[in-house]
Amino acid sequence: MASSSNSPDKDPKNLSVHNEFKKQKIVPGLPAVGRGVDRADEKKMCIGRKKQLITLFQSMASSSNSSNKDPENLSDDEFEERQIVLGSPAVEEMCIGRRNFGLSWGFITDQGGRKHMEDRIVLYPNFMSMKCDTFGGCTAPKSELGLDESLVHYFGVFDGHGGDEVSDYCAYSLHKAVKKEWWQSEGLINEWMERWQHSLTKGYEKVNKVCEMHFKGGSTAVVVLISTCQIIAANCGDSRAILCRGSHTIPLTKDHKPDREDELERISKSGGRVVKDLWGTMRVNGNLAMSRTIGDKHLKPSVISVPEFTFVKRNQEDECIIIASDGLWDVLSKEVAGDMACKLLQQVRISARPDELPTQYVAGHLLSKARSRSSTDNLSVIVIDLKPKGTS
Ligand SMILES: [Zn+2]
Repeated sequence: MASSSNSPDKDPKNLSVHNEFKKQKIVPGLPAVGRGVDRADEKKMCIGRKKQLITLFQSMASSSNSSNKDPENLSDDEFEERQIVLGSPAVEEMCIGRRNFGLSWGFITDQGGRKHMEDRIVLYPNFMSMKCDTFGGCTAPKSELGLDESLVHYFGVFDGHGGDEVSDYCAYSLHKAVKKEWWQSEGLINEWMERWQHSLTKGYEKVNKVCEMHFKGGSTAVVVLISTCQIIAANCGDSRAILCRGSHTIPLTKDHKPDREDELERISKSGGRVVKDLWGTMRVNGNLAMSRTIGDKHLKPSVISVPEFTFVKRNQEDECIIIASDGLWDVLSKEVAGDMACKLLQQVRISARPDELPTQYVAGHLLSKARSRSSTDNLSVIVIDLKPKGTS
């Protein structure tokens, strides 16, 4: 593939491309941080949907007992109310996406006391756009009519080891590989969950293949896809993603550690051994303290690159998602980090000045907290606010 030297879309196999990204923490060419930049677009879509539905209202208005107000003059709430009354007598559920007009996000990355920065993060708002029933099997009224085309956002944390080449490559190429697989499976796999599992698994597999061919090290890979009403997480390794819902923390990932019962069994069957080191850490073949990663050719097939998935339908109680490398999780439990982030976010949403980004503040706070608890590792945190100020 021919392309200019400064294009982020040059041939992924051209390894010189990585030198351009060596010092970068964010993938160039992608919007790295934003404050709900999708909000306007989502609003536009909702307005578009409103116009389309007006025809429906008008055609059904004569048989309805609801207000005779002109649909064009309805407030959003009245609109939703009438939409349900008029348009969906058989279905009670309402898509949460119709009440949220976007999300905002912030991040922080820090090398800590390490010699090199091997973490990479990707924030890719508006990664794709599709109906919410196509993306996440939404069964709410009208989802199947294509009136809810919604934006899909992609976030990823990649924690490299043995160098930064694999985490760099994951940050640069995994989203492209997943998107390609998704569109290639159109018409072949109809069930949405199966289609995402297929696309993500294939994406991970292809990126891993290139990494095994060209690099020595490895990397974790946690990816979270968010649409207006669905959250999908894919994970290899011990970076983590959590969802803060009300006062609860819901893990979106499960660490791939060699002493996890199912992983231990799989490793043994593949001919590998899990050995405890001098400090009591379990390691595959006495080497890696993770059972799944991208790269790490020398540990295959005991260490695999197959992701595990979590699918969560969004609801009104969802506050935020945190994705981070183990520099955070080694010193803060999921529950503590989730509780801290959720409470702080609720406060900062109210008190922040217009030029302040609450998610950025929370990400920074989590980093400081981890450093105060003696974490010296590379550390990356992404905080995604699921109901930023003015949208709930
Ligand atoms: Zn939906």
